[in-house]
Amino acid sequence: MCTETAHSCAMRNERKTDDEYILVNTKCLKKFLSDLSCLVCSEKLEFSIGDHHGFATKLYLKCNACEIIKCSEYSSVRLSDLKSTRPPFEINQLMVSAFLGLGVGHSGITRFGATVGMNTLTSGAYTKHLKVLSEEVLELKKNSEEVQGGCQTGAL
Ligand SMILES: [Zn+2]
Repeated sequence: MCTETAHSCAMRNERKTDDEYILVNTKCLKKFLSDLSCLVCSEKLEFSIGDHHGFATKLYLKCNACEIIKCSEYSSVRLSDLKSTRPPFEINQLMVSAFLGLGVGHSGITRFGATVGMNTLTSGAYTKHLKVLSEEVLELKKNSEEVQGGCQTGAL
């Protein structure tokens, strides 16, 4: 799990290739996964999409013959949040950070989602992520001021 905050990840220009996001059309994803077969009965596995949580989506691979879900995973990792048993998804905080940086906020996210046909964040979820990002900025400012204070004291 990513131990960095979504904001700090977003500020980096480079992401590891095994830890990045891609936009994928579901028809392309279904085609990509279409040759996968069940290891038990050899029938083709069916890809399906479950619940959306903002930009994060639950993905499933199921064998209809065995009636077993072979694999399920969210399209985003969760942030490390010791206060929550269900921490927020990283992609949602990254999107809030990105659109906030563009100066278009929730209306920009909504427009983006509508344009590409993606589920997006509700205004309530957007506000929660905005609050977390604001707290991170305040914490960084506080730490910066403490470091500056320490440097000034040391210089005297
Ligand atoms: Zn099967």
